[in-house]
Amino acid sequence: MRKTVLITGASRGIGKACAELFSQKGYRVIINYNKSEEEALKIASAIGATALKADVSNAAEVREMFALAGNVDVLVNNAGIASQKLFLDITQQEWDRIFDINVKGMFNCCQAALPYMINKKSGKIINISSIWGITGASCEVHYSASKAAIIGFTKALAKELGPSGINVNCVAPGVVDTDMNRELDTDTINALKEETPLGVIGTAYDIAKTVLFLASSGADFITGQVISPNGGIVI
Ligand code: NAP
Repeated sequence: MRKTVLITGASRGIGKACAELFSQKGYRVIINYNKSEEEALKIASAIGATALKADVSNAAEVREMFALAGNVDVLVNNAGIASQKLFLDITQQEWDRIFDINVKGMFNCCQAALPYMINKKSGKIINISSIWGITGASCEVHYSASKAAIIGFTKALAKELGPSGINVNCVAPGVVDTDMNRELDTDTINALKEETPLGVIGTAYDIAKTVLFLASSGADFITGQVISPNGGIVI
């Protein structure tokens, strides 16, 4: 039977690439979006997916989305925001917002998806962290801390859910060419490429391929792991 994948933040970037690859592999795809309705509906119609709006930081909206989505076999917690600020300039609201979306959003979606997976004794959860959650990034303390939290969450949940036949893993991308990095100037991008052994910036599809693998039966024995497609910038 056709498996269902729900991908949060799939209106753009990495989430959109995941939606396209999962659809090519025959999954029933649910595209979550928050603000980019037009983009989400366009992708949904192009690949025959369903687009559902929900702010992942809002538990009630997430519950409503899962009620509409039905049973989900694979959950990809990809929705996220980033911002660059000197540590002392980060406001309480900015700190809370980044944790509400990047961490609580994942918590809300896992709580909504898990009753079905636990009952079925199978399921795959893939959480999108970042290399900055592993190494820390200057001027991104709030972002780095939220992405490190995703790694801790993944490892703990993997231990708890292993006996229920559910795999929980983390993908920690390096620098990827999406809207999130549009503000980086050419010099910064070139410096990042130079620092990267493979000499390139990643594409959204590079990351989506790793996510697709972790959702596949090829990854049945992998849980609680952090896989980092990053061109070698962090080894
Ligand atoms: P992006 O192009 O900026 O897209 C972000 C996506 O997240 C959009 O689809 C957006 O949806 C969604 N989103 C944001 N807030 C949301 C909310 N409250 N509820 C639901 N959806 C929400 O970013 P990206 O580069 O594809 O990043 C995807 C993930 O990869 C993020 O978790 C990011 O931290 C991580 N990552 C990215 C990079 C990189 O270099 N790009 C590197 C490492 C990790 P709407 O537009 O519809 O609101």
